[in-house]
Amino acid sequence: MLDILAFGAHPDDVEIGIGGTLALHGARGYSCGIVDLTRGEMATNGTVEEREAEGKEAARVLGARVRLTTGLPDAYLRATEEALTKVAETVRRYRPRVVLCPFPRDRHPDHGHAGELVREACHLAGLRKYPAEGEPYRPRHLFYYFLAKTEDPPLIVDISDYAEQKWRAIACHKSQFTLRAEEQRQTLVNSPLFARHVRGRDQFFGALIGAHYGEGLVPERKVPVSDLLQLGGSRL
Ligand SMILES: [Zn+2]
Repeated sequence: MLDILAFGAHPDDVEIGIGGTLALHGARGYSCGIVDLTRGEMATNGTVEEREAEGKEAARVLGARVRLTTGLPDAYLRATEEALTKVAETVRRYRPRVVLCPFPRDRHPDHGHAGELVREACHLAGLRKYPAEGEPYRPRHLFYYFLAKTEDPPLIVDISDYAEQKWRAIACHKSQFTLRAEEQRQTLVNSPLFARHVRGRDQFFGALIGAHYGEGLVPERKVPVSDLLQLGGSRL
């Protein structure tokens, strides 16, 4: 059983979108896991084997206890019966209290489909008669995180103390973010601008809560509050 299970479409999505939040909760003693829905086999650079090794290293940097892939087809991610069953079985197996997944209105179709797929699968996982393996289980909360597109998030996690850990986890994905050899193709993500954009986005969300860095979350439904004094406050 895990406290938090973070899903990404590709093996670096979780780091880019929500790496600081995972590092923060890991440091607080919560158990976190990462599920890559695909192996990222359609990426311009990097082999599946390289990407798997990089993902393992990044998970270690973030303090995640588990990292696995459901092995669904990259670029063809859809809420098919097979995909829903695989994700529902993963949810039933790890029984996370909180699920994190990409915001459905993203520029990259895989990210959008990943968000829809995980939301639907979390619902199905709780149905007693849904024919997936494992005991029925539905996570308490589902939050969307941002990748290639952002909106105004109702919740922002202060990741100021964990931002360095996040950059280190992203840097583990050398095949994606480092332009190493002549045969490697220049892409949006291995340009130096990309890392600056991720930092800039996190700085902007941080600024909205008076912190150095933040990660935005969109709850799938209203979040009940039972103690106003337990809410985080401005650091500045
Ligand atoms: Zn991605």
